Amino acid sequence: MTSSQAGREWDRKSGPSPIYLDHHATTPLDPRVLDAMLPYLREDFGNAASTSHVFGWRAEAAVEEARERIAAAISARPAEVIFTSGATESNNLALFGALANASAGHLVSVETEHVAVLDPCRQLERSGRALTLLPVSRAGLVDVNAIAGALREETRLVSVMAANNEIGVLQPVAAIGALCHEAGVLFHCDAAQAAGRIPLDVQASRIDLLSLSAHKFYGPKGVGALYVRGRAPRVRLEARQFGGGHEGGLRSGTLPVAQIVGMAKALELSLDQREVEEARLRDLRDLLWQRLEAELGGVHLNGDAELRLAGNLNVAFEGVDGARLLLALPRLAVSLGSACASSRPGPSPVLTALGLPAEWAGASLRFGLGRETSREEIEQAASWVIEAVRRERAS
Ligand SMILES: *Cc1c(COP(=O)(O)O)cnc(C)c1O
Repeated sequence: MTSSQAGREWDRKSGPSPIYLDHHATTPLDPRVLDAMLPYLREDFGNAASTSHVFGWRAEAAVEEARERIAAAISARPAEVIFTSGATESNNLALFGALANASAGHLVSVETEHVAVLDPCRQLERSGRALTLLPVSRAGLVDVNAIAGALREETRLVSVMAANNEIGVLQPVAAIGALCHEAGVLFHCDAAQAAGRIPLDVQASRIDLLSLSAHKFYGPKGVGALYVRGRAPRVRLEARQFGGGHEGGLRSGTLPVAQIVGMAKALELSLDQREVEEARLRDLRDLLWQRLEAELGGVHLNGDAELRLAGNLNVAFEGVDGARLLLALPRLAVSLGSACASSRPGPSPVLTALGLPAEWAGASLRFGLGRETSREEIEQAASWVIEAVRRERAS
């Protein structure tokens, strides 16, 4: 059965409501974000590039205000924020844009990056650039000294994510930024999972290019941004998409005003409640872990125990097959790994990169807790998982 058939099938079933613990794949739109967006889908529908009438002026004003607010949230200047369709496009623009003029050139990244970084890296490698993909420790962290050791005369760019989408680990972004700045190499950071969850400061962390995606922080899908450093140093990117010359010529195409307004609102809301929400999610996540550990045994935490997102838990269950376990949990929305790689067979490359034994890598589930996750849901989810694992182990 395909996923879309499964979806239609589901709608005919009854039973307890499903529980969503897959917030790394996407997050629900916050109702306050929707409220902020609606005027720009209704009366204020203008094209932000229309300079001859009030409809265009209103749209442009909304876009520029959103740009200011997003810039402020990452300690950037408004002119340094380029709107895109999401983090995939931002990553592609950053990587191809920075290496466009280097027919040779070298770039450095990490084995556990998102496919939206790894695939562009490999594409650049196929077209003549050199690529170094660094390994990570058992805890999932890249060694800054290994990055330093990988730099060469012709290295143009280092790309390391802020927070991992499978195991939630937080890479040492500030140390990597300092190293790159010192070496005169551009530093790109995919912050799709980090934005709104941990503080991001492109100045303090010396980030030159930063990718954001609104649907990861309770904003709408289909919109994101790329921060492009404007000075010290001024980053020069080659455009990937040509047309009306929007976004300083870097990304042509009519701006989705409502999505952009929603993105700014969503980022602000996330940052306003960040610390309270982080503490709440950490408590719920720890509760889930403690129940699994105490009532099951033979469970292993994947990724560093401390340096990780508060809402992430990635667990290997000894003696079960992850795919079978998922089937035994029809009302729990969790995943084996990245949604973007879920059609690829075999254990998650991220878990494989940790050096886990193959049977653990194939026996792991990713839990991603979020804003609407309640204590009752975590208790229910823990009970379902415990029951399912016991059944699988006994079978
Ligand atoms: C979700 C995600 C992306 C892709 O973002 P889209 O906006 O969906 O294109 C890229 N990198 C990471 C780390 C992600 O979690």
